[in-house]
Amino acid sequence: MSLIKPIVFSDLDDTIFQTSRKMAGAPDEALKASHALNGSHSYMTQRQSAAFEWLNASTRFIPVTARSTEALSRCSLPFKDYQIASNGAVILTPEGALDEDWMARTRDICKAKEQLFTDMAVKIEEMNEDGGLRHWIVDEQMCGVYYCVKSNGDEARLDEVQFVMEGMLGGPDGGLLFKHRNGNNLAYMPHDISKKSAVDYLIEKISPTRDQPIWGMGDSITDLPFMESCDMMVIPTETQLHKTFKKGMN
Ligand SMILES: [Mg+2]
Repeated sequence: MSLIKPIVFSDLDDTIFQTSRKMAGAPDEALKASHALNGSHSYMTQRQSAAFEWLNASTRFIPVTARSTEALSRCSLPFKDYQIASNGAVILTPEGALDEDWMARTRDICKAKEQLFTDMAVKIEEMNEDGGLRHWIVDEQMCGVYYCVKSNGDEARLDEVQFVMEGMLGGPDGGLLFKHRNGNNLAYMPHDISKKSAVDYLIEKISPTRDQPIWGMGDSITDLPFMESCDMMVIPTETQLHKTFKKGMN
C-alpha cells in the first residue's frame, strides 16, 4: 500500500498557539511559538505542542493565517510545506518563495481598494485622539491587502469602530469589504481575498483528484468557509466557533 499523506490546513492563532494572557497558567518559555514586537508573545501548551508535532511529522501541515508574511516569519514553528498568509492574500511555496500567480491575482483585487483603506485609516485616526487604538493596512509586496484594528485596552472599544466602519462601508457584510471580528481582532478584507479562496486554489494544485484526506482546523467563524472545503473540521474547544455552534443548538 502506498503511503497517502493527509493534508491539514490549519489556522494558527488561538488554534495552534495563543498569547500568554489567554492561558490558564504561566507559559513554558521552551514552548514559545511566536515573537511579538509589542512583547505579547505566543505560546503552545504541552498538548498543543504534541498535537503540532504529530501533525507536522505525519501530514502536509499548511498554516492558514491572518498573519502577514512578516508576522508569520516571527513564528518559530518548523513549517515545511505551503503557507497561506494575510488571510489568503499570499501563498508561500514549500521553498518559502512567493506564489507569483497568486500574488498577481491579489494585486488586481486589492489595487481597487487602495483608496478605501487609506480613507478608513484617516477616519479611525480621527477617533483615536487618546491613542487607544492600533490600526494599520496590512502590506504585502508594497500592496495593501487588508485593514486591521485592535484596541490597546477594552475590546469593547472595537464596537464603536465597527459602528463607524459600517456607516462608511454600507453595512456589516455585503458592503464594500468583508468583516472579521473575534475578540480584539477587527479586520476588513476585499471579498475575494479569503482563506477559503487560497485553500481551494492549493487543493486544486496539490490534490486535484482529492485522493488524500483533507482536514481543516480553526477557531473563528471566518475560518469556517475554508474548513468547509475540507473533509473534516477540527475546532478547538471553547473558541468562537465552538461557542457559536453550542449557542445554535440551544
Ligand atoms: Mg485564529
